[in-house]
Amino acid sequence: MSETSDAFDLVVIGAGPGGYVCAIRAAQLGMRVACAEERETLGGTCLNIGCIPSKALLQSSENYSRVQHALAKHGITVGDVTFDLSQMMKRKDEVVSTNVKGIEYLFRKNGVTWLKGRARIAGQGLVDVAGKLYQAKHIVLATGSESTPLPGIEIDEKTIVTSTGALSLERVPKQLVVVGGGYIGLELGSVWSRLGAAVTVVELQERLLPTMDAELAKQAERILARQGLKFRLNTKVLASERTNEGVALRIAPGNGGPEEEIRAEVVLVAVGRRPFTNGLGLAEAGVRVNAGGRVETDDQFRTNVPGIYAIGDLIRGPMLAHKAEEEGVAVAEILAGQAGHVNYNAIPGVVYTWPEIASVGKTEEELKAEGVDYAVGKFPFSANSRARTMGDLDGFVKILAERGTDRILGAHIIGPDAGTLIAELALAVEFDAAAEDLARTPHAHPSLNEAVKEAALAVANRAIHI
Ligand code: FAD
Ligand code: NAD
Repeated sequence: MSETSDAFDLVVIGAGPGGYVCAIRAAQLGMRVACAEERETLGGTCLNIGCIPSKALLQSSENYSRVQHALAKHGITVGDVTFDLSQMMKRKDEVVSTNVKGIEYLFRKNGVTWLKGRARIAGQGLVDVAGKLYQAKHIVLATGSESTPLPGIEIDEKTIVTSTGALSLERVPKQLVVVGGGYIGLELGSVWSRLGAAVTVVELQERLLPTMDAELAKQAERILARQGLKFRLNTKVLASERTNEGVALRIAPGNGGPEEEIRAEVVLVAVGRRPFTNGLGLAEAGVRVNAGGRVETDDQFRTNVPGIYAIGDLIRGPMLAHKAEEEGVAVAEILAGQAGHVNYNAIPGVVYTWPEIASVGKTEEELKAEGVDYAVGKFPFSANSRARTMGDLDGFVKILAERGTDRILGAHIIGPDAGTLIAELALAVEFDAAAEDLARTPHAHPSLNEAVKEAALAVANRAIHI
């Protein structure tokens, strides 16, 4: 039997980027706020086992790769280059630890109470956390997501791993098979390939990164293949079997070709993520979920049950940390009587390979399907002077603008620091800017951003440097 304890204006369940940001914003707006989190540390998937540890390893492995392959051209000679995987992992863990402690500090600073333990909706305006009942005027569900399993492939996080296991391997596998050529497959595939694993990515569809612009994905495939990753597109995994050396996977090409067996020391399953709602009490509370298990919400993040809201990976839309954060802020502001709002069209997506791959707004495929008349402005990094000084010539900027209005509808970049460059285009989409607005904005020289300006000029066929 639960005992009743404190009362709050808002109890947020889950302290990932959606939940912790929502809690902080609501506290800033004067609400009495608690955030329930069952993990030992705050920050959710993103800070503990997602964005942050993966980017730490991407950075370390990229440094290693650059010392090996990029310095000689600059006239820098280094002796034998080696790496210490345990130090790389230790650094990654320290980066995570600093970040998650930072959220604890922010909770203290803003007066947000951390309710430690698993939370469950316990009735109208009631949340049970580890056996204690708390009253809540409003409840925001932000319990995030987990890896989608693949039938017939049993995860042990040692030999057959999800991203969580792949972020903590104790040694570099001789061969790594990645099932799924999406965000995780390409990022973690890159990490282990750079460190010496023979990486094969098995992807069900005929292309990588199915949610991104097809031209971008094609270019990514070419560049990553040059770096040593192998791709088996349009291919299905039928079954897996443990062997003394690792795993044998039976795969079948989608074109009806013969089945094959591929062997790997480690298999990473990265076929997407699904909402996590175990033990949350959704059914008992009558909260509606859709066929994919995502909690249904309206444009104010309200579920069908009064007083219960949901945000982040748990609801529709891309499963991205900054999307969850925007929703966290918006729902807190709505609860405070303000006009919280998220512009989903302006949410960028970035794959942190090298070169980086970044998108915002519509893809060419989407515009074609919608019958929109658009113009394309494209500029390659090989014609950008800063990229030349850096020696990073791969990739391009592509801007899609509506014919007639010149309004920027989408932008897609593969190239050096694409993840940073895309911010200018997200701002352009947010401001409803025309390509000409970008084209007429002075950009510092020499900078990578000049490729964005040139692509904007190219929309009207007036790029200067190509
Ligand atoms: P989560 O971050 O999943 O947080 C939910 C929290 O709720 C968890 O801490 C969980 O313990 C807690 N919880 C769940 N149920 C309960 C309960 N009943 N009681 C108490 N607590 C509960 N996104 C990006 O934008 N950029 C990236 O670079 C990026 N890299 C990624 C790399 C990897 C390997 C992975 C797996 C994901 C990555 N993502 C990235 C996606 C990003 O992590 C998610 O989109 C984001 O974490 C979603 O935030 P959220 O707040 O909705 O949920
Ligand atoms: P994803 O949706 O990005 O990619 C999954 C891939 O697996 C797709 O290409 C899909 O076609 C393929 N696939 C599905 N079923 C398959 C099967 N049976 N066999 C082979 N391939 C199959 O998902 P993910 O890479 O697992 O990552 C999960 C989510 O986490 C991402 O969608 C993204 O929202 C988030 N994430 C973001 C970042 C980032 O922002 N940099 C990094 C990692 C993860």
